[in-house]
Amino acid sequence: MKAPKFSYTRATSVEHALELLDKHGDEGRILAGGQSLMPTLNMRLSQPEMLIDINGLNDLKGISLDGDTVCIGALTRHVEVMNSDIVTEHLPLIAEAMPHVAHVAIRNRGTIGGSVALADPAAEMPACILALGATLVVQGSAGKREIPAEEFFHGLYETARAENELLVQIRIPSQKADKVSVFLELARRHGDFAIAGIAAYGSVSGDTVNDMRLVYFASEDKPTIGTNAIAALNGKTWSDETKEAVNTALEGDLEPMTNLHGSAAMKLHLQKVLTGRAMDAAVARAGGAA
Ligand SMILES: Cc1cc2nc3c(=O)[nH]c(=O)nc-3n(C[C@H](O)[C@H](O)[C@H](O)COP(=O)(O)OP(=O)(O)OC[C@H]3O[C@@H](n4cnc5c(N)ncnc54)[C@H](O)[C@@H]3O)c2cc1C
Repeated sequence: MKAPKFSYTRATSVEHALELLDKHGDEGRILAGGQSLMPTLNMRLSQPEMLIDINGLNDLKGISLDGDTVCIGALTRHVEVMNSDIVTEHLPLIAEAMPHVAHVAIRNRGTIGGSVALADPAAEMPACILALGATLVVQGSAGKREIPAEEFFHGLYETARAENELLVQIRIPSQKADKVSVFLELARRHGDFAIAGIAAYGSVSGDTVNDMRLVYFASEDKPTIGTNAIAALNGKTWSDETKEAVNTALEGDLEPMTNLHGSAAMKLHLQKVLTGRAMDAAVARAGGAA
């Protein structure tokens, strides 16, 4: 199918993009990498009247360090995040997850900001930045505001970003030296959207798990912190008994969606399996016994 008719403007500055967003309201749509937006237009799942192309806005590109915080411009392409030395050194969770984001051609155009703004429940980046306690910087004509990742993802493709705001930057605390991270997902083929997935970040001393944060994606309508599972895990030695307790607790955290990729029961089972594997890996990476 072909896209419906739309007008197109290439924004010349962030302020220009914001003016256009204010002017067109919910009929205006930001065009970043276009890897999700263009397919939805071609399938006529959305019909905005104005596409606001931000690809010329260099202020929104790049990765830098601000003290202990990694700052990633919203328009930074997935491939740039994947090849960044700063990300490899300071955000190993993101470095581990990025090869799972789609395929090379899509990573060459798609942007981290587009992925986070879209909030596809099966996307890897929203789960990772939630696990790492990131802050999203959005800008509207009234100025900038910062939104903790925990408050950003509201539901299926729904976020705390207002329609007339641009996501401009993602600020992610560097991984601390005493912490360990693990990213795992299950997809039918490498590069497909996941059916189940987990981003784990915390510390393990000996076999004892502390401050571990478990974030689940793909099975829920948004990236979801496993609050009960975390409570059953932290302060415990990682053992078969703990694994069972965590898995039972996880049933109170997740309400998987049944869809073409599988039933709710199957996805809950997969998330339990991934939790066990993630914690085995976390203990091993921290130098423990598993
Ligand atoms: C075949 C295929 C497989 C894929 N597999 C995966 C996968 O496994 N994992 C995964 O995570 N993704 C996957 N994707 C999606 C891909 O990662 C997209 O690049 C990403 O979701 C959107 O980024 P984009 O820059 O292309 O955004 P666009 O398509 O340009 O925009 C997406 C949406 O976000 C809005 N938007 C974009 N940038 C901003 C901004 N800065 N501020 C406010 N709103 C903004 C747009 O208005 C639009 O509504 C896949 C895509 C395809 C086509």
